[in-house]
Amino acid sequence: MSESWPLISLRDIRKHYGGGDKPRVEILHGISLDIHAGEFVAIMGASGSGKSTLMNILGCLDKPSAGSYRFAGRNVADMDADELAWLRREAFGFVFQGYHLIATETAQENVEIPALYAGMSEHERAERASALLTRLGLGERLHYRPKQLSGGQQQRVSIARALMNGGRIILADEPTGALDSRSGEEVMRLLNELADAGHTIILITHDRDVAANARRVIEIRDGNVISDTGPVQREAGSETAELRLDHQPGQSQWRGDVLEACRAAWRVMWVNRFRTVLTLLGIIIGVASVIVMLAVGMGTKERVVAELGAFGTNHIYVSPKRESSRVPGRGISMSDLEALEDLPQITYVLPNFSGSKVVRYGNEDVQTRIKGSRAAMSRMLSWPVVTGSFFTEEDDRNMATVAVLGSRLASNLMPDVENPVGETILVGNVPFQVIGVLGSKGTVTGDEGVDDLVVIPYSTASLRVFGERDPSYVTLEVGDMKQIDAAAKAVDDLLFSRHQIRDFNLENAAAWIAAQAKTQDSMGVMLALIAVISLGVGGIGVMNVMLMTVRERTREIGIRMATGARQRDILQQFLTEAVLVTTVGGVTGVILGLSIGVALVLLGMPVIFSLSAIISAFFCSVITGLVFGFMPARQAAKLDPVVALANE
Ligand code: ADP
Ligand code: MG
Repeated sequence: MSESWPLISLRDIRKHYGGGDKPRVEILHGISLDIHAGEFVAIMGASGSGKSTLMNILGCLDKPSAGSYRFAGRNVADMDADELAWLRREAFGFVFQGYHLIATETAQENVEIPALYAGMSEHERAERASALLTRLGLGERLHYRPKQLSGGQQQRVSIARALMNGGRIILADEPTGALDSRSGEEVMRLLNELADAGHTIILITHDRDVAANARRVIEIRDGNVISDTGPVQREAGSETAELRLDHQPGQSQWRGDVLEACRAAWRVMWVNRFRTVLTLLGIIIGVASVIVMLAVGMGTKERVVAELGAFGTNHIYVSPKRESSRVPGRGISMSDLEALEDLPQITYVLPNFSGSKVVRYGNEDVQTRIKGSRAAMSRMLSWPVVTGSFFTEEDDRNMATVAVLGSRLASNLMPDVENPVGETILVGNVPFQVIGVLGSKGTVTGDEGVDDLVVIPYSTASLRVFGERDPSYVTLEVGDMKQIDAAAKAVDDLLFSRHQIRDFNLENAAAWIAAQAKTQDSMGVMLALIAVISLGVGGIGVMNVMLMTVRERTREIGIRMATGARQRDILQQFLTEAVLVTTVGGVTGVILGLSIGVALVLLGMPVIFSLSAIISAFFCSVITGLVFGFMPARQAAKLDPVVALANE
């Protein structure tokens, strides 16, 4: 605080526009003047004389091309952008000819803006804004938007805004210029009152009558001061307007009012909701499709694993390679089976016959799968009977005509029979006695077709039903699951040495599951690619809209800067908007993805949602907002306040 310095001290201030390839025009030709705290000064001059240019320099919205400006003794040229913003916020209050209110905000919200950047609490802010507006006769119109107010009322709102952070120095550029004479008089009465209360008032006008309100009149013409009535010393009151510079500028008391930023961003989004939705489509579709595809992929995998694992994974399946005519297959013979039984890794060898026959019961007949197997099948496939019993090894030796029915076949073939055990069915032309019904495997595997079968002893199937000796396939049980690959190799070596030709196929469930997992991995890579592409497209959309928003709201940015917003406040505001947009997109995408998934579940598709996938898809969309919103937000923050304000 320097007592010896006037509040404002200009020395030989010059301002020119142009230069470079444009013609250079000097508007201010060396203005020197001192303004003391508590003065009520009018700067008067004809239109085009450079008054607004001077005011922008006084208010630290613009920089002079040459000369020095000392504010309370400090050279303004030495201040950085944040310190200038601090001065605008704490020291100055602007009143413009065109009011410069933010159209989308209410009177009270407009008045609150400077306090927002000064870090006043929400409650205090609202209280002070409504008190100021009430004092200026707008107590009934706190929640009106600028469009719903008359010119005089709007100008009073802007005066309230100028006073919000104290308004020690009111810079009023043609405050009555757009008003009818009565509203104009009212505004002048207000400025007079403020001057009496100790505020320093700098009034800019082309009107001699308006200027006559002031206690000191400085007249400028063509960028030069041509007359100055000189300072009027005031005895009292001036200390109320004295500026305390003990506050450390730059060390901000502003704490991120994220909620307020979100509220403002939400309002903007709502005003442009159609555009917002279009922008978000990319992100919504991206997030939703990743969630759905991942859920379907996982569900399908689970089902396949369940299907493969339902009958046990410790099995190797051997079948003759019959389909290839170039391989003169011999099939798997009974002596092959005996040789396989001697392999140490193999604990059981189960030959199977599989074919299709018409099965008849009473008047019902169906074509269905007939499986010839051995008594061990029920245990090996973990497929017990629920009614009756399974056939025994003795039945197999005796070629008994006994049958065990799959659960679905049983209910289809004999819907009215309570207990099928003891009934007689015809398989082909051979009568069989039903001795048991198997439990359902379809509920485990998701494929109900597996329960449409008739199981009969292997020897009966081979000799009495199909008339063939060699099995259609052989199930080998491996004792130690870890040995399954070694076992498969041993089986392959044995059969190859016996046949001297690879006329057989080997498969095992464990290998299928491993292959399935590999497919799943490559699908994961594809999904990640889809996610990246759609989020990228969405992000470019967001960037596009944010650039548009910044261009449309350039004047709003200027107003915010004039009321003291720092660059980082503006950056934060637009980043918040971008992130809010993509967050809404992410949430919508998650909801859409979940809904599609639920619909697929209702359609019978296997779907498994992954929480981590949902969360990461959502966070990716939020990060997209940060990344793609940054450039437009920085563009906004870097705007020059005067240029932004002049933007229409
Ligand atoms: P007043 O407020 O006294 O009417 P201004 O300070 O607005 O005058 O303008 C003074 C002169 O400076 C005018 O001739 C105007 O055309 C010119 N001027 C103002 N701003 C710019 C600018 N950004 N670029 C070029 N010339 C400008
Ligand atoms: Mg002007």
